[in-house]
Amino acid sequence: MSTYRNETLAIRSQSERTQQREHSVPLYLTSSFTFENAEHMRAAFSDEVEANIYSRYSNPNVDELLEKVAQLEGGEAAWATATGMAAVFTTFAALLASGDHIVSSRSVFGSTHNLFVNIFPKWGIMTTYVDADDYEAYANAITPATKILYLETPSNPGLDIIDLEKIGAICIAKNVLFVVDNCFATPVLQQPIRFGADIVIHSATKYIDGQGRVLGGLIVSTQEIIDKIQAFARHSGPAMSPFNAWVLSKSLETLHLRMEKHCQQALEIAKRLENHPAVDWVKYPFLDSHPQVTIAKKQMAAGGGIVSFQIKGGLEAGRAFLDKLSLFSLTPNLGDSRSIATHPASTTHSKLKPEERAEVGISDGLVRLSIGLEHIEDIWEDLEKAF
Ligand SMILES: *Cc1c(COP(=O)(O)O)cnc(C)c1O
Repeated sequence: MSTYRNETLAIRSQSERTQQREHSVPLYLTSSFTFENAEHMRAAFSDEVEANIYSRYSNPNVDELLEKVAQLEGGEAAWATATGMAAVFTTFAALLASGDHIVSSRSVFGSTHNLFVNIFPKWGIMTTYVDADDYEAYANAITPATKILYLETPSNPGLDIIDLEKIGAICIAKNVLFVVDNCFATPVLQQPIRFGADIVIHSATKYIDGQGRVLGGLIVSTQEIIDKIQAFARHSGPAMSPFNAWVLSKSLETLHLRMEKHCQQALEIAKRLENHPAVDWVKYPFLDSHPQVTIAKKQMAAGGGIVSFQIKGGLEAGRAFLDKLSLFSLTPNLGDSRSIATHPASTTHSKLKPEERAEVGISDGLVRLSIGLEHIEDIWEDLEKAF
């Protein structure tokens, strides 16, 4: 393993060059690879020689991205998928069998919730939800059938913070796999493996791309677990495209710079919102008013780029606020160089009853901001105008 620091590894971990001696990594847009002769092909198929065979199995651009992201997360190996949800699904589908049980934080991404509630039960895989910060409840929910404990921190969209070290200790004591969706923090702000996580999942669509161009998912773990995931994914086919891998690998080169700026601007906006008369409350992991600020500061290098707040006046005020924004994009994404605003109660969570929304921490006046990289005063002026 190289002794370079992570900022350098994100830029310099490319090891080989082709005969063209290119400086930047070339793009290998090819679905398959050729062999010298029948013997070479036979040896490649029986894993006797290392060779690319088919891009559903492996591709140089995907491999380069995997090596980088494994190093940045402090894992041994990684796997890439077409989307973040494919990474979530592949992890569970590769490692679980009928009758296995999942314990999960209640504060998880909407599509992950949908997998737990509507899809996995078809195959006899059941999930028990626990309140995000009820540590005793996690331990009590684990049964002999439990194979995976799953959580997001910070969570989407509630920004709940869960103590990774505490959960890591529970998982070791109870012998279950600890899986963390690290999408909001990225490896720049938080490395869950350091706190005992066995598997880290990313929607690379968000901060890792960071410019709203491509979809992608990443799974980082030990070599042994990645081998199992690979055995499933090669044949079920959720592969990442070489083009997307090339884009995402390039994006990693600037991730640390982008995260620093996202975090700095988001903290400043969160502080200003806290003092605004039209705002009931603000939630941001590094604000002193956040209920889990101490844990956030223990496990994260900075608070991230997402700020949520409750506007006075409820559902109608939330919708009216969005309509008056002009710089902010109204789009269901986050982690982009462009600032984004969403109103969960009238969009992603509109099918839930107000009581059900409250249970997952979504009030009718909740507005979620993904603070971009535009000039901070332009961001603030747009918000001020909309109030
Ligand atoms: C967006 C998101 C996902 C899903 O990722 P896609 O790339 O959209 O499939 C999973 N987890 C979290 C926390 C997300 O924000």
